[in-house]
Amino acid sequence: MDTNRPKKKFGQNFLQSDSILKKIITESGVTLEDDIIEIGPGRGALTKYLVKAGKSLTAFEIDTSLDSYLRPLEGLNSNFKVIYSDILEIDLDDYIEKEIKCPVKVIANIPYYITSPIIFKLLESKWVSEATLLIQKEVADRLVADEKSGDYGALSIIINYQADVKKLIQVKRTAFYPVPNVDSTVIQIKKHRRYQDQIKDEKLFKELVKAAFTQKRKTLVNNLIGLTDLSKEALIEKLQKINPKYHAFTRAEGLSMDDFIELANGWNA
Ligand code: SAM
Repeated sequence: MDTNRPKKKFGQNFLQSDSILKKIITESGVTLEDDIIEIGPGRGALTKYLVKAGKSLTAFEIDTSLDSYLRPLEGLNSNFKVIYSDILEIDLDDYIEKEIKCPVKVIANIPYYITSPIIFKLLESKWVSEATLLIQKEVADRLVADEKSGDYGALSIIINYQADVKKLIQVKRTAFYPVPNVDSTVIQIKKHRRYQDQIKDEKLFKELVKAAFTQKRKTLVNNLIGLTDLSKEALIEKLQKINPKYHAFTRAEGLSMDDFIELANGWNA
């Protein structure tokens, strides 16, 4: 059996385009001062550029059978180390604190099937300052969306609350082997703390944002009713006390970041 055949269950679509790989390095803004983490080095397509572009490179790969591709690169580059582990299982901050001891930049072509959990994990990390990630185009569109866009939703708000997200490069599906059935976008996520000080209860804020978008076609009131014991009329009244603009037909997609902050801060007032 060919154990090196790309594995669908691990989201293995290997980047084949040298021009895209070089563009990722340039656009990421990485310098020789940077300690880098790569998630899913695969056969080392991006890895071989990253080892030259930064000070050190640590890669987390779930598939041990890729060792035959990655070991030679480790042999040639003393600043490069592969950890065979599931990125979602690893205590990333503990690892960085003990082994790297510096803030890191993440640069990676990540597996599509765990895009959101990876992004949330990186946002939670104290040590990750920014991330340049190749992800599915549709997810990138949702991440950068504002309330004027049809892609606006809970993901856009929760990410933008913690970070600025910008699109860097569009990548056609034909740049990969095997060819996936979606196009991709390289995005850059840079953390900020613009809103953290304005929010009284971050957990409640995220809970309200997620609940508000549970069913896109439902009104705000119908989506939020599950979070309270109030009747519909009493909930509308409660919302109107927070801001008189709310009514029975208000929809979550019309609410800005500031509206959600106001809503969360007024919810238990
Ligand atoms: N970086 C390579 C490239 O650009 O050609 C491979 C990218 S491929 C889209 C995703 C990689 O992530 C694969 O190598 C896959 O084995 C690895 N991977 C999948 N799930 C993972 C996980 N939970 N933790 C770490 N790596 C994972």
